[in-house]
Parts: sequence; C-alpha cells; structure tokens
Amino acid sequence: MKLAESTAALLPESIRDDFPILAQTVHGDKQLVFLDSAASSQRPRQVIDAIVRCYEHEYANVHRGIHVLSERATDGYELARRKAQEFLGAEHAHEVIFTAGTTASINTVARSWGDANVGAGDEILLTPMEHHSNLVPWFQLADRTGAVIKHLPMTDDGRLEVDRLGEFLTTKTKLFAFTAVSNTLGTVNPVAKLCRQARAAGVVTLVDAAQSAPHLPTDVRAWDCDFLALSGHKMCGPSGVGLLYGREALLDAMPPFLGGGSMINRVYDDHFTPADLPGKFEAGTPPIAPAIALGAAIDYLQSIGLDRIHAHEQALVAHAWERLSAIEGIRLLGPSPIEHGPDIRAGLVSFVLDRPHSHDIAQLLDNEGVAVRAGHHCTQPLHDRLGITASTRASFYLYNTLAEVDALAEALTTVRDRFK
Ligand code: PLP
Repeated sequence: MKLAESTAALLPESIRDDFPILAQTVHGDKQLVFLDSAASSQRPRQVIDAIVRCYEHEYANVHRGIHVLSERATDGYELARRKAQEFLGAEHAHEVIFTAGTTASINTVARSWGDANVGAGDEILLTPMEHHSNLVPWFQLADRTGAVIKHLPMTDDGRLEVDRLGEFLTTKTKLFAFTAVSNTLGTVNPVAKLCRQARAAGVVTLVDAAQSAPHLPTDVRAWDCDFLALSGHKMCGPSGVGLLYGREALLDAMPPFLGGGSMINRVYDDHFTPADLPGKFEAGTPPIAPAIALGAAIDYLQSIGLDRIHAHEQALVAHAWERLSAIEGIRLLGPSPIEHGPDIRAGLVSFVLDRPHSHDIAQLLDNEGVAVRAGHHCTQPLHDRLGITASTRASFYLYNTLAEVDALAEALTTVRDRFK
C-alpha cells in the first residue's frame, strides 16, 4: 500500500472555493499553485467577511468608550479571546494575550519573564531546529544577563534526541524553549513528553506553535506547557495579530513589558500600578479588527477540524515524499515518513537539488505558477547543522490538493532536467 493511501481521506475540493485568491492564473495562463503557507497562509472568504463586517459595523477603540460602536468592538474583541482560549485549551481567557505574532509573543516572555527570572550562569535550553524568532530573543536575554545557551541535540535526519533531554535539564536550567513543528524540516516534536520532563525538573517551557497551531490540534493543558506562541497569519487569520498563552501564576508574577495606555490600573505623578491580566500585557491600542478576524479563522478551522486538516496534510506530504524522492540529485530534508510513519511530519517538504541553486529553483517554479520559498527560512543554524546554505520549501495547507503536489513534482523534474 502506498503511504498516501494509508492516511485519512483528503478534504473536499470545495474548500478551495472559500479561498478566492487561489482561483487565479499567474504569468499569463498558469494556474496558481500556492505552496508557501508556512510563510503565510491564505484567508477564506469567512475571514475576509469578518474583517469587512468589523470595519463596516463594529469598529471603534476597545475598552474605553461608552458608545455603541466601542461596546460592539469590545464584545467582538473579547469574544475572539474566548475563542482563542477554547482553541488553545487554556483554563482561563485571561491567560490568552493578543500580541502582534509569534515573534512579539516570544520577545514578551524573554523581556518580562526572562529579565525577572534568569541570571548569570543560568542555562536556557533550545534546539538546533528553532526559527530565529525562538533564538535571537534568548541570545539577547543571555547577553543582558550572562545566561548560557544550550541545545538539545538532533539526529542527522532532523529528530530531536528526546531520550537525552535529562542530560540537558540541569539544576541551572531555567527555560526550555522549542518548536512544536519545525518550519524547515517539518518534524513534529513530542511536545507533551518534552514539557512533562522539563516540568518535572522544575524548568519552565515555551512552545513555539507558529507551525503547529494552524495544522494540528493544540492543547496547552494536555501539553502542560508554561508559555505558547503563535501567529494569526499562518492559520487563515490576518497578519499583525498573534497569541501568547501563559500559565496564570507565571503571568501574574511577571512585570509588564511594554508600558503605555491600557496596561495600567492607575498612573500617579511618578509611578503606576499595572492592570490585571490580560490588559497588563496589552499596552496601547490592540489589533482590534485582526483579533476579531482571528476569531473567525479559529471558527473556520474548527468547523473543518484540526485532526482532519492534519490527516489531509499528511497525505499530501506522503505523496510529495514519494514523487520528489524519485527526482535525480534531490535531498529531502527532515525525517522520512516512510521510515518513521506519517506522524513524524507536518505539511511541508524542504529539499535541495545538486543543481540549480534553491533561489533559481524557486524562480523557475514560479514561472510555472508554482509558489514555493527558497533560502534559509530563518533557520540559519539548522542549515549550518545540515551542511547547506539554503533549501527550497514547499508547504501545504488545507486547500492544497494531490494534483498540486503532482504539478510541483512535474515542474521540478523539468527544472532538474534543464540543469543536467
Ligand atoms: N516560529 C516559527 C516556527 C515560524 O515558522 C515563524 C514564521 O515563519 C515564526 C516563529 C515567526 O512568526 P512571525 O513572523 O509571524 O512572528
């Protein structure tokens, strides 16, 4: 049996009707094949409608006005928070903070929790497969405090050496920050297992869910993580909005990071008292319409089901793995779903060809209407570890089809043949 046949049924073609942007042709008559959702997904009509509805009927600043539009906007904004709470499996709505995205969420934790809890000689444990957004804020924290950066090792095929975690959780370890799904390798990490072991060692965990939350179910309570970060624009929502989940006790104890309006309880001549959660971490006017539309994106994803979306993408990855591995001179990155089973991967495949270079591949594929990403995907240390400088990434989402995977494979074969 082929791997693609072993996974659950593909989602119906009708889902594509919800995404008007996908219907277009590019470069003349080339049907667009959009395989760049890991960078930013497309939005369904339901989310676009929610943005229009907000600006046409319910927009004003939140939490401050006594007039009807402000009340409507506040209701919509807080309803979106409750949807996010349910989506994440959080115990309290006030554990969910609206931010500008994953990067902003991680920086908030690094500045607020990090500055208050990490000191010289303390250790921050990361992994070799982190996005720069889950590296640089910790390097900056280490620079400020004298803390030491460590990495849990990874196998050559891109699986964390989970069994060695105990060696890296020392009495000095304060934080273990890792990604749930690698944006370059596609590896799905065993989040619950990693968090459980870290917690048992008294180590705080931060899960970068930028590439998992759009594609597979999230459950902060089952995972038992302390912090979790995600971006709206990768999960059918707008750009400019994301979420930070934090365990109530930790958020309560943390000093606010950004200062300004809304995050205060009372301001005096020379000092202030902070607001309660979640306002303490939402200084200034928040991303009102984007947050409301993120709520609509959550509704949309849940109406389809994250389990079904994940199964659909596993089938696409399995098919891509079979088709692409047949191309001469290709190296597929990350663990093989044939060797390790479909659960080891989420919906993307990165690769290098012996020739041409990744950027040329992306350019030539674009000429055929196939949109992929080339470069280091904000994972330079990972590329160093793999001994390459760049790769090409095809990333899938609920609206992609097996026929689009075939279109990628055929276009890539043509590119490779031209450079023989
Ligand atoms: N973490 C991972 C794993 C990502 O893939 C990305 C974006 O590609 C980020 C963090 C950063 O997300 P944003 O740019 O939305 O803040």
